[in-house]
Amino acid sequence: MSDSEKKALSGLTLDQLVEFATESGLPAFRGKQLHSWIYAKYARTFDEMTDLSLEVRELLKSKATIQLLKLAHLEVSRDGTRKYLFELPDGKFVESVLMSFDDRPSLSACVSSQVGCAVGCTFCATGFLGFKRNLSPQEIVDQVMSVQRESGQRISNIVYMGQGEPLLNVDNVVHSIRTLMASVGIGARHITVSTSGIIAGIRALSREGLQITLALSLHAPDDATRDVIVPINKKFSVAELIDATHEYYEATGRRITVEYVLLAGVTDSPEQARELAELVRNLHCNVNLIPYNPTRAEDGVVTYARPSLDAQHRFRKIAESTGKTVTIRLERGTDINAACGQLHNSYVAGP
Ligand code: SF4
Repeated sequence: MSDSEKKALSGLTLDQLVEFATESGLPAFRGKQLHSWIYAKYARTFDEMTDLSLEVRELLKSKATIQLLKLAHLEVSRDGTRKYLFELPDGKFVESVLMSFDDRPSLSACVSSQVGCAVGCTFCATGFLGFKRNLSPQEIVDQVMSVQRESGQRISNIVYMGQGEPLLNVDNVVHSIRTLMASVGIGARHITVSTSGIIAGIRALSREGLQITLALSLHAPDDATRDVIVPINKKFSVAELIDATHEYYEATGRRITVEYVLLAGVTDSPEQARELAELVRNLHCNVNLIPYNPTRAEDGVVTYARPSLDAQHRFRKIAESTGKTVTIRLERGTDINAACGQLHNSYVAGP
């Protein structure tokens, strides 16, 4: 059996691993041992599983592999950010990012939920790819495990902010979150799902009763601007979106994160800062401003300019006038292809 025909085990739930063990003629507890080796000890090979007999290891090698995703490319930034491009079993690619922060001991992984994306935000290299397909729960979880195996470091926070719109793949995303909690040991409060504003998905997530953080990629306070830069806004208006996030807070008690990209001359005016402040006045939220990270024009993305530091701080001061906490995102990996979709596009299209 070639490796591509074997069953990949990383990213499977405990029940799935027990099922694999019994289907392979092994006792159920072998599934539990596999679970421990994969999730607690980051095993890369069956030979490392020293509490399994040689015979069992040989059987496993003949039927299975550990990793589902193949590392195709890795870029490491001067600030320690690691950006991964993984090849999926069908030859498509997705990106994941590992971020560390000097002021915190914890490590965060940013994972993708789809190959490409149908939302088509004009400032995003992934949007330019168009939608290819949803990722399976296993493909999402194995991004985290592959990053942990490669880096040898334990991840404590997960953000669904890579390629794709997580709430257009909500069932698989929820399944992956439950596996990350149960198998990888990541607490719900350390998981953030970022959405461009899929109202049905926000409501579906509310019903799950998970204590995860919802990040709303608002990016503009008015429909006229948002219709252009986040085209899905034509289906779900800003007012409807804000209502849905109120509902999410009511259902979960979790404060919303409002993400807002600062594009010079497009979303950074003092008037827009005032509108933003009013819009979120009654919402239990923090606001995170993201100064635009320029993408390469040849990616096909509309090229925007980054606001000056003065413009960023002026916007922040106005936006926090109604008492909200407003932060300007600390940038990671600016010397590598760190923005969503950039690494994929430069790798697939050639540097
Ligand atoms: S920013 Fe997110 S939602 Fe928008 S096109 Fe890119 S991946 Fe899709």
